Amino acid sequence: MGRNMEEKVKSIIKELNLPDQVQLLTCVYRIHYVPRVTREFAEQVTGYKNYPEYCFGIVHRERMDLYISVFDSHLSDEKVLPASIIFDTIYHEVIHSILLEGQWISQSDNEPLVEWLGKNVRKMTFNYVR
Ligand SMILES: [Zn+2]
Repeated sequence: MGRNMEEKVKSIIKELNLPDQVQLLTCVYRIHYVPRVTREFAEQVTGYKNYPEYCFGIVHRERMDLYISVFDSHLSDEKVLPASIIFDTIYHEVIHSILLEGQWISQSDNEPLVEWLGKNVRKMTFNYVR
């Protein structure tokens, strides 16, 4: 990542107040923000293949690292993703991490389940109507 790009990513992190870590039940995952999680980047980070050309986020379980894209998939411009998409992605990747840490490892590949849990957890609130 070039110096200029690094500064841009830093300013997005600051502006959107993006978290650096997530504390789970048994461990802490670091959250890294990158311009784009491209296939090349994902393969390089994890050593696995078969990623799509562009990912909103990925998990590296052994290192306990999450990588989150802050720019959209078009390499030609620098359109920052809407905050809602970045946060949806953080929640989505955190759900992957939660499933990877327990007895539910196989469910971490269940993308519709991960997406559903992530969206719900992000929107979950408790109400007190008594
Ligand atoms: Zn996923």
